[in-house]
Amino acid sequence: MITAEQLYGKLKDIRVGNPLCQFTEQICETLLPTIERIEELKREKNAIILVHNYVAPQILYGVADHTGDSYGLAKKARESTADVILFAAVRFMAETAKILNPGKMVLDPNPDGGCTLADGITAKDVALLRAEFPDHTFVCYINTTAEVKALCDTCVTSSNVYMIMERIDNDKIYFLPDRLMGENVKKYLQAKGVNKEVEVYDGTCYVHEEYQPESVDQVRHNFPGVEILVHPECSPGVVDKADYVGSTSGMLDHVRGSDHESFFLLTECGLTGILESEFPNKQFVGTCTTCRYMKANSLEHILNVLGNPAPRSIIELDPKVQQNALRCVDKMFSYLKD
Ligand code: SF4
Repeated sequence: MITAEQLYGKLKDIRVGNPLCQFTEQICETLLPTIERIEELKREKNAIILVHNYVAPQILYGVADHTGDSYGLAKKARESTADVILFAAVRFMAETAKILNPGKMVLDPNPDGGCTLADGITAKDVALLRAEFPDHTFVCYINTTAEVKALCDTCVTSSNVYMIMERIDNDKIYFLPDRLMGENVKKYLQAKGVNKEVEVYDGTCYVHEEYQPESVDQVRHNFPGVEILVHPECSPGVVDKADYVGSTSGMLDHVRGSDHESFFLLTECGLTGILESEFPNKQFVGTCTTCRYMKANSLEHILNVLGNPAPRSIIELDPKVQQNALRCVDKMFSYLKD
């Protein structure tokens, strides 16, 4: 188990966020009793903790068994042999773990953790769209509820959306719910000469839609030589100005392999914090935005839910929804086999 000194070693270089809330050795000491109790409960219950890259650093570095983006964590959930999977992120990710591994108890320490994308479309909306576009293959971003996945043909994540949309064996596709990601994929397909008619739903992530192309120009001007990394949930105008476009795990890998000294990441702040911890000698410039839903996770919530889960923190799915949503998510994995 991690010591206060080791935890401080991981957290001391994280500068994003409120400067008055930076980690000190004393703060790490105060976190330790909760972390120790969570570790005891993990052993007692044969539980694992999956943590998304956007969640607070004391959770990422204090108690996570696996960290990553939604695709990487979905794979970990599918492969897990633990009795209990606690997913510290937002609701749709915990639901995806239950879809993939329905025999496990899946716990959500953040049951009110919405997502402007997942909350922006319902199963009823999809049913109406399917009636309107009967010849289209329906592709849902993983940021959707289990009920929405259950009505779609395949799921995608930010790490594979371009590749799967290109491979789909139909020239008519309906992509939901992220309008900006859909527009980015349309531009990508056009640039590659792939002729597909892509309809796009009008949802957005409130964190990524905020970024403006002019801010990117400003950062390039102020920090010559900076490498700019952009998430595909950003607008096409922002994506056009990027040096690299990819998922959060893709961005981490890119920085790890890059010779550049300074970076500007247009995604949720959590990722910049991870990189500041990992590369204290590199510079991470510009601003970033926090996702209020991801940041609603806390060590205390995790402790309470592992010790004594309230019914609303235990993910339960209608068996038919689970089976149909599994077909949709499995279809995504099948595209990735070749
Ligand atoms: S960052 Fe955006 S897409 Fe991710 S959970 Fe938050 S609102 Fe949803």
